[in-house]
Amino acid sequence: MTQPEPLSEGQVPDAVAAGSLGRRLVLATLGFCLLFTLASVGVRTYSAWQQNLQEMNAELALIDQVFQSTLSKAIWEMDGEALGTHLDSIVQTAPVSRVQLQIVRAGRAPEVLERRQAPRTEPGRVPQLQRSLTYEPYAGARETVGQLTLEGDERVLRARLFDQATGIVLTQVIQSLLLAGLIMWLFNRTVTLHVRKVAWHLAQLTPANLGRRLRLDRRTVRRDELSQLEAGVNALQEKLSSYLERQHQAELDLAAHRDRLAELVEARTAELRAANERLEDLSRSDPLTGLANRRAFDEIKDVEFRRATRLGQPLTVLMCDVDYFKRYNDTYGHALGDQCLRVVADTLRSVFSRAGEVVARLGGEEFVVLLPGSDAATARDTAERLQQRLSERAMRHAGSDIAPHVTLSIGLATFDPETMDHFDLLLHRADEALYQAKSQGRNRIAD
Ligand code: GH3
Ligand code: MG
Ligand code: MG
Repeated sequence: MTQPEPLSEGQVPDAVAAGSLGRRLVLATLGFCLLFTLASVGVRTYSAWQQNLQEMNAELALIDQVFQSTLSKAIWEMDGEALGTHLDSIVQTAPVSRVQLQIVRAGRAPEVLERRQAPRTEPGRVPQLQRSLTYEPYAGARETVGQLTLEGDERVLRARLFDQATGIVLTQVIQSLLLAGLIMWLFNRTVTLHVRKVAWHLAQLTPANLGRRLRLDRRTVRRDELSQLEAGVNALQEKLSSYLERQHQAELDLAAHRDRLAELVEARTAELRAANERLEDLSRSDPLTGLANRRAFDEIKDVEFRRATRLGQPLTVLMCDVDYFKRYNDTYGHALGDQCLRVVADTLRSVFSRAGEVVARLGGEEFVVLLPGSDAATARDTAERLQQRLSERAMRHAGSDIAPHVTLSIGLATFDPETMDHFDLLLHRADEALYQAKSQGRNRIAD
């Protein structure tokens, strides 16, 4: 498993660095501020427009107040020059775009004087003031002399509104930018910084350093989401650490159990193997004498017979039988009979001890010797040595008619590839020779 590259503190893993919560928050705030600014600019501009209208109405009323009496007097006195001067003065004041004076003449159509300094605007869009002009030449004789109409200047209204709206937009934008900056700074300081540290800490974690606790550098310890996150991470680490420890211990125990089990299996297998070997030996050996039994002999004889056939080597069989053994039993008892058989077996073993030579007990007091590589003459010599060795043992046999001690009759047969195509023929020949030895008087070798 490849270990991740260690990161320096403050550096965050790619998956974490891909997006910034702070940036998204600022973008959202800016978006909201933009909408809010638009709405706010709309409302404030509308109310500024209304206020400008009111102000302009007041200004027109003031102008009307200033010029009302002088205009009335000039009309009464029919002073056309003064009227023109007054109207010019009125129309030159900033908020007035048009001034109209209707002079009432008795019995005539009214005379209209008009001054204008801006193109005509749609009625109703700018404030308009209409006032009847009265003159009182002497007390109690008030007369209407004309009608004054003042119309506000839309350009003035627009210019004033533009100035105000510019101010409103500027303050709103500055306010929004400051708010977004403040939010970003605060969020970065109180959240982003710590979240990055948590991400860095988690990225550095390995099973080996689970004990390293997460510590956020915060001046005041408050119970908030970040402190919950910090406590949660530390609790998780502790649980993981103890879980890994338990798992490690369990693995060690398991390994120890496994080793013990393997040792047990090995010991049992060895015991079983030894028992099998013993069983095998037992099944192939004669319990009384420890020699190969008939079963083992049957296996060996075929192998040796095939080898002799293949290599053209001599192979001789000696069939040996204890003479008058029934009488031995009758004389000394069965137990001593067994003992006698063991001595005979021992003698056979000592004489035929060369590699490849096989001695087996075929049953009762009858033994067979297989001599691979021995021809008849060599085998006869060895058989004589056997009889010699047995007589040297001098086991008393009072029941024997031919000797004072236990003797053996031996039938000898040698493998003849011309006439024998299987081992039983050779064995049969040895049996016949043994019969011959018995009938010739026992304690002898016949072939
Ligand atoms: P021969 O000279 O013609 O061989 O006569 P023999 O008495 O030896 O032959 P026979 O076949 O008549 O008798 C063999 C005896 O061997 C009979 C039996 O009681 C005895 N015998 C066979 N197996 C055992 C054994 O395992 N232990 C003992 N003690 N005796 C056995
Ligand atoms: Mg016999
Ligand atoms: Mg016998």
